[in-house]
Amino acid sequence: MNARPKKHFGQHFLHERRYIDRIVAAIAPRDEDCVVEIGPGEGALTLPLLKVARRMTAIELDTDLLPRLTAAAAEVGELSIVQSDVLKVDLTAMAAGGKLRIAGNLPYYISSPILFHCVEHLDAIADMHFMLQKEVVDRMAAEPGSKTYGRLSVMLQLVCRVEPLFVVPPGAFRPPPKVDSAVVRMVPRPPAERPQTDTALLERVVKAAFAQRRKTLSNALRQLATAEQIQAAGIDPKARAETVPPQGYVQLCQALADAAA
Ligand code: SAM
Repeated sequence: MNARPKKHFGQHFLHERRYIDRIVAAIAPRDEDCVVEIGPGEGALTLPLLKVARRMTAIELDTDLLPRLTAAAAEVGELSIVQSDVLKVDLTAMAAGGKLRIAGNLPYYISSPILFHCVEHLDAIADMHFMLQKEVVDRMAAEPGSKTYGRLSVMLQLVCRVEPLFVVPPGAFRPPPKVDSAVVRMVPRPPAERPQTDTALLERVVKAAFAQRRKTLSNALRQLATAEQIQAAGIDPKARAETVPPQGYVQLCQALADAAA
């Protein structure tokens, strides 16, 4: 299959066998799994996944790719295709038969919105394996104190275990992207380990803190928290956002909620 890749759909088709095999091995599907692939494209990952899982679902926005994908899949297993923007798909409704194992070589132009969409449906998900720009995977997995630690690291690490797996060079794709890619595994934390705080407040605080990462927290959060409230959360108000661990932001939101009660 050789469709002309569409830039506006973020199409970079994986063609190097050894990376396809490594991704499928990392996912290690079993035939009872509810596998859902985001952006199957020409089926580079779909067909080997389908071979093992025997039935799976794929969500694809580009209708032009579907006839050939359907035909190729028919010889391998039962592929159910949802023709849609993944951001509009109710993943929770899809999990009626069991928790989803989500996979995909994601379209890079909306990779963060896709990650946050999955996070909204976390109770429906067993695990996720995604190919993303390496720089994004670095930010997802970054630890406090590193240059790449930021909003993505905090918001994702609080709800998932984030495990970078391996790097994939541009030459593995057609056409090659300008940057290195990497595969990451994300496993949702059990509900009791996830923050019980108001998610909207947590998002506001983290966004504001990292919007001015060079400033002290008390300066960056001037509109949201006083120095005393930051102190009450066990955080030095003179600290910078990038030094505060994910759990520190949860404690801060708790202190703000307590102060408002
Ligand atoms: N999985 C294939 C592979 O590895 O060769 C294709 C990966 S390509 C990087 C991304 C795929 O996502 C494309 O097939 C593209 O059409 C699809 N896509 C783009 N935007 C999408 C969206 N909003 N919802 C679902 N699929 C989308």
